[in-house]
Amino acid sequence: MTILEQVSHETMKFMRGKYRLDEIGDGKDELKFKQGAKTILTIYIHDDRFTFLIIFGRKEREYFEMHASEFSSYIRNYYDNSKTYHDGKWMFIDVSTLEQLEEVKQMIMIKKKPNRKPFSKENAVYSKCGQRCDLCVHYINTDEAMRAMMEPHLIKMWGITDWSMRCEGCYSDNCYCKDDPCNAKDCAPKRGLAECKECKEFPCVKATSADYRSMIHTEVHYADEITWGILPYVPMQYEDK
Ligand code: SF4
Ligand code: SF4
Repeated sequence: MTILEQVSHETMKFMRGKYRLDEIGDGKDELKFKQGAKTILTIYIHDDRFTFLIIFGRKEREYFEMHASEFSSYIRNYYDNSKTYHDGKWMFIDVSTLEQLEEVKQMIMIKKKPNRKPFSKENAVYSKCGQRCDLCVHYINTDEAMRAMMEPHLIKMWGITDWSMRCEGCYSDNCYCKDDPCNAKDCAPKRGLAECKECKEFPCVKATSADYRSMIHTEVHYADEITWGILPYVPMQYEDK
Protein backbone atom coordinates (compact mmCIF):
# COMPACT_ATOMS: atom_id res chain seq x y z
CA MET A 1 0.00 0.00 0.00
CA THR A 2 1.13 3.57 -0.63
CA ILE A 3 1.38 5.91 2.36
CA LEU A 4 -1.88 7.57 1.31
CA GLU A 5 -3.61 4.18 1.11
CA GLN A 6 -2.28 3.38 4.59
CA VAL A 7 -3.68 6.70 5.84
CA SER A 8 -7.03 5.80 4.26
CA HIS A 9 -7.10 2.32 5.80
CA GLU A 10 -5.91 3.47 9.25
CA THR A 11 -8.55 6.21 9.25
CA MET A 12 -11.35 3.70 8.66
CA LYS A 13 -9.93 1.25 11.22
CA PHE A 14 -9.87 4.04 13.77
CA MET A 15 -13.30 5.47 13.00
CA ARG A 16 -15.05 2.09 12.84
CA GLY A 17 -13.15 0.55 15.73
CA LYS A 18 -13.79 3.47 18.09
CA TYR A 19 -17.12 4.85 16.88
CA ARG A 20 -20.56 3.67 15.91
CA LEU A 21 -21.49 6.28 13.29
CA ASP A 22 -23.26 6.55 9.95
CA GLU A 23 -20.91 6.98 6.97
CA ILE A 24 -22.52 9.41 4.53
CA GLY A 25 -20.61 9.93 1.28
CA ASP A 26 -21.60 12.34 -1.49
CA GLY A 27 -20.67 9.99 -4.36
CA LYS A 28 -17.84 12.32 -5.39
CA ASP A 29 -15.13 13.37 -2.98
CA GLU A 30 -16.57 13.71 0.51
CA LEU A 31 -17.35 11.40 3.44
CA LYS A 32 -19.16 12.51 6.59
CA PHE A 33 -19.27 10.53 9.84
CA LYS A 34 -22.59 11.35 11.48
CA GLN A 35 -24.60 10.55 14.57
CA GLY A 36 -28.16 11.39 13.58
CA ALA A 37 -28.10 14.94 12.22
CA LYS A 38 -24.81 15.79 13.93
CA THR A 39 -21.62 15.62 11.87
CA ILE A 40 -18.60 14.46 13.87
CA LEU A 41 -16.04 14.52 11.05
CA THR A 42 -15.95 15.34 7.34
CA ILE A 43 -13.18 14.02 5.10
CA TYR A 44 -12.49 15.57 1.69
CA ILE A 45 -10.61 13.31 -0.74
CA HIS A 46 -7.84 14.73 -2.94
CA ASP A 47 -5.31 13.00 -5.20
CA ASP A 48 -2.40 13.70 -2.86
CA ARG A 49 -3.99 14.08 0.59
CA PHE A 50 -7.15 14.00 2.68
CA THR A 51 -8.55 17.11 4.35
CA PHE A 52 -10.22 16.45 7.70
CA LEU A 53 -12.80 19.04 8.83
CA ILE A 54 -13.14 19.01 12.61
CA ILE A 55 -15.26 21.67 14.32
CA PHE A 56 -14.49 22.43 17.95
CA GLY A 57 -17.17 24.01 20.17
CA ARG A 58 -16.34 26.00 23.29
CA LYS A 59 -15.71 22.98 25.58
CA GLU A 60 -13.44 21.28 23.04
CA ARG A 61 -11.49 24.54 22.53
CA GLU A 62 -10.99 24.88 26.28
CA TYR A 63 -9.75 21.27 26.45
CA PHE A 64 -7.43 21.70 23.47
CA GLU A 65 -5.95 24.93 24.83
CA MET A 66 -5.13 23.19 28.13
CA HIS A 67 -3.37 20.38 26.20
CA ALA A 68 -1.96 22.36 23.25
CA SER A 69 1.65 21.64 24.24
CA GLU A 70 1.00 17.93 23.59
CA PHE A 71 0.41 18.67 19.89
CA SER A 72 2.95 19.48 17.18
CA SER A 73 3.26 22.91 15.63
CA TYR A 74 1.57 21.42 12.52
CA ILE A 75 -1.67 20.95 14.43
CA ARG A 76 -1.28 24.05 16.62
CA ASN A 77 -0.92 26.21 13.48
CA TYR A 78 -4.21 24.87 12.14
CA TYR A 79 -5.84 25.58 15.48
CA ASP A 80 -4.44 29.11 15.74
CA ASN A 81 -5.21 30.04 12.12
CA SER A 82 -8.72 28.58 11.83
CA LYS A 83 -11.75 30.85 12.08
CA THR A 84 -14.26 30.56 14.91
CA TYR A 85 -17.90 31.02 13.86
CA HIS A 86 -21.08 30.95 15.95
CA ASP A 87 -21.09 27.13 15.79
CA GLY A 88 -17.41 26.58 16.52
CA LYS A 89 -13.87 26.65 15.21
CA TRP A 90 -13.69 25.10 11.73
CA MET A 91 -10.36 23.37 11.20
CA PHE A 92 -9.57 22.01 7.72
CA ILE A 93 -6.52 19.84 8.44
CA ASP A 94 -4.55 18.30 5.56
CA VAL A 95 -3.40 14.74 6.25
CA SER A 96 -0.98 12.85 4.01
CA THR A 97 1.17 10.94 6.54
CA LEU A 98 0.52 8.44 9.33
CA GLU A 99 2.19 10.82 11.84
CA GLN A 100 -0.28 13.59 10.98
CA LEU A 101 -3.12 11.08 11.22
CA GLU A 102 -2.09 10.04 14.75
CA GLU A 103 -2.49 13.66 15.91
CA VAL A 104 -5.76 14.09 14.06
CA LYS A 105 -7.07 10.96 15.83
CA GLN A 106 -6.43 12.75 19.14
CA MET A 107 -8.34 15.78 17.82
CA ILE A 108 -11.29 13.55 16.84
CA MET A 109 -11.31 12.03 20.33
CA ILE A 110 -11.48 15.54 21.80
CA LYS A 111 -14.46 16.18 19.52
CA LYS A 112 -16.25 12.97 20.53
CA LYS A 113 -15.56 10.23 23.05
CA PRO A 114 -15.49 6.76 21.46
CA ASN A 115 -19.01 5.30 21.46
CA ARG A 116 -18.56 1.82 19.98
CA LYS A 117 -19.23 -0.98 22.42
CA PRO A 118 -16.97 -3.87 21.38
CA PHE A 119 -18.65 -7.20 20.67
CA SER A 120 -18.87 -9.43 23.73
CA LYS A 121 -15.99 -11.93 23.85
CA GLU A 122 -18.08 -14.47 25.73
CA ASN A 123 -18.28 -17.62 23.58
CA ALA A 124 -16.31 -15.89 20.81
CA VAL A 125 -15.23 -18.19 17.98
CA TYR A 126 -12.38 -16.81 15.88
CA SER A 127 -11.12 -17.80 12.46
CA LYS A 128 -7.40 -18.30 11.80
CA CYS A 129 -7.12 -14.65 10.79
CA GLY A 130 -9.14 -13.22 13.69
CA GLN A 131 -12.58 -12.90 12.11
CA ARG A 132 -15.57 -13.67 14.32
CA CYS A 133 -17.12 -16.91 13.05
CA ASP A 134 -19.75 -16.74 15.82
CA LEU A 135 -20.94 -13.37 14.42
CA CYS A 136 -20.80 -14.51 10.81
CA VAL A 137 -24.01 -14.90 8.84
CA HIS A 138 -22.65 -18.13 7.33
CA TYR A 139 -21.72 -19.82 10.61
CA ILE A 140 -23.72 -22.99 11.16
CA ASN A 141 -24.34 -22.21 14.83
CA THR A 142 -25.58 -18.65 14.28
CA ASP A 143 -29.02 -18.24 15.75
CA GLU A 144 -31.76 -17.85 13.09
CA ALA A 145 -33.18 -14.71 14.73
CA MET A 146 -29.73 -13.12 14.65
CA ARG A 147 -29.27 -14.17 11.03
CA ALA A 148 -32.60 -12.56 10.12
CA MET A 149 -31.50 -9.35 11.88
CA MET A 150 -28.12 -9.32 10.09
CA GLU A 151 -29.15 -10.16 6.53
CA PRO A 152 -30.77 -6.79 5.58
CA HIS A 153 -27.61 -4.99 6.74
CA LEU A 154 -25.37 -7.39 4.78
CA ILE A 155 -27.53 -6.95 1.66
CA LYS A 156 -27.19 -3.16 1.91
CA MET A 157 -23.46 -3.31 2.55
CA TRP A 158 -22.45 -5.85 -0.07
CA GLY A 159 -25.30 -5.74 -2.61
CA ILE A 160 -25.62 -9.55 -2.41
CA THR A 161 -29.00 -11.09 -1.61
CA ASP A 162 -28.10 -14.77 -1.14
CA TRP A 163 -26.50 -15.44 2.27
CA SER A 164 -27.60 -19.08 2.44
CA MET A 165 -24.13 -20.70 2.37
CA ARG A 166 -23.37 -22.41 5.71
CA CYS A 167 -19.91 -22.91 7.19
CA GLU A 168 -18.77 -24.94 10.18
CA GLY A 169 -15.97 -22.51 11.01
CA CYS A 170 -12.40 -21.87 9.94
CA TYR A 171 -10.88 -24.78 11.91
CA SER A 172 -13.41 -27.36 10.78
CA ASP A 173 -12.96 -29.82 7.91
CA ASN A 174 -16.01 -28.21 6.35
CA CYS A 175 -14.92 -24.57 6.28
CA TYR A 176 -16.47 -23.25 3.10
CA CYS A 177 -13.12 -22.15 1.67
CA LYS A 178 -11.27 -25.42 2.30
CA ASP A 179 -11.01 -26.14 -1.45
CA ASP A 180 -10.35 -22.56 -2.51
CA PRO A 181 -8.42 -21.05 0.39
CA CYS A 182 -8.94 -17.41 1.28
CA ASN A 183 -5.99 -14.99 1.10
CA ALA A 184 -5.10 -15.49 4.73
CA LYS A 185 -5.26 -19.30 4.73
CA ASP A 186 -3.14 -19.37 1.59
CA CYS A 187 -0.58 -16.88 2.88
CA ALA A 188 0.21 -18.16 6.39
CA PRO A 189 1.56 -21.62 5.35
CA LYS A 190 3.71 -19.96 2.68
CA ARG A 191 5.35 -18.05 5.55
CA GLY A 192 5.84 -21.23 7.56
CA LEU A 193 3.03 -20.25 9.94
CA ALA A 194 0.01 -22.22 11.11
CA GLU A 195 -2.18 -19.12 11.13
CA CYS A 196 -2.17 -15.33 10.78
CA LYS A 197 -2.19 -14.67 14.50
CA GLU A 198 1.45 -15.92 14.58
CA CYS A 199 2.49 -13.39 11.91
CA LYS A 200 4.30 -10.17 12.73
CA GLU A 201 2.21 -8.40 10.09
CA PHE A 202 -1.07 -9.46 11.70
CA PRO A 203 -3.61 -7.99 11.29
CA CYS A 204 -2.80 -7.12 7.67
CA VAL A 205 -5.30 -5.97 5.04
CA LYS A 206 -5.09 -9.36 3.31
CA ALA A 207 -6.40 -11.04 6.44
CA THR A 208 -9.82 -9.49 6.05
CA SER A 209 -12.57 -10.24 3.61
CA ALA A 210 -13.70 -6.63 4.06
CA ASP A 211 -10.41 -5.26 2.70
CA TYR A 212 -11.73 -3.23 -0.24
CA ARG A 213 -14.44 -1.83 2.02
CA SER A 214 -11.83 -0.69 4.55
CA MET A 215 -10.82 2.50 2.76
CA ILE A 216 -12.17 6.06 2.86
CA HIS A 217 -15.11 6.00 0.43
CA THR A 218 -17.97 8.16 -0.84
CA GLU A 219 -20.86 5.66 -0.46
CA VAL A 220 -23.68 5.77 2.12
CA HIS A 221 -23.55 3.11 4.85
CA TYR A 222 -25.41 3.32 8.13
CA ALA A 223 -23.92 2.29 11.45
CA ASP A 224 -25.73 -1.08 11.59
CA GLU A 225 -24.38 -2.01 8.16
CA ILE A 226 -20.85 -1.39 9.43
CA THR A 227 -21.52 -3.30 12.66
CA TRP A 228 -22.94 -6.44 11.02
CA GLY A 229 -21.58 -6.25 7.47
CA ILE A 230 -17.97 -5.27 8.20
CA LEU A 231 -16.84 -5.76 11.78
CA PRO A 232 -17.30 -9.54 12.05
CA TYR A 233 -15.06 -9.90 8.97
CA VAL A 234 -12.06 -7.84 10.02
CA PRO A 235 -9.30 -9.24 12.23
CA MET A 236 -10.12 -8.70 15.90
CA GLN A 237 -12.80 -6.21 14.79
CA TYR A 238 -10.15 -3.45 14.66
CA GLU A 239 -9.40 -3.80 18.35
CA ASP A 240 -5.78 -3.97 19.48
CA LYS A 241 -4.16 -7.40 19.30
S1 SF4 B 1 -17.26 -17.96 6.44
FE1 SF4 B 1 -15.32 -17.39 7.46
S2 SF4 B 1 -15.93 -16.10 9.22
FE2 SF4 B 1 -17.76 -17.18 8.48
S3 SF4 B 1 -17.88 -19.02 9.75
FE3 SF4 B 1 -16.76 -19.58 7.89
S4 SF4 B 1 -14.57 -19.32 8.40
FE4 SF4 B 1 -15.78 -18.21 9.96
S1 SF4 C 1 0.74 -11.42 5.86
FE1 SF4 C 1 -1.39 -11.17 6.48
S2 SF4 C 1 -2.49 -12.86 5.43
FE2 SF4 C 1 -0.30 -13.37 5.42
S3 SF4 C 1 0.03 -14.64 7.28
FE3 SF4 C 1 0.51 -12.50 7.83
S4 SF4 C 1 -1.41 -11.69 8.66
FE4 SF4 C 1 -1.93 -13.56 7.52
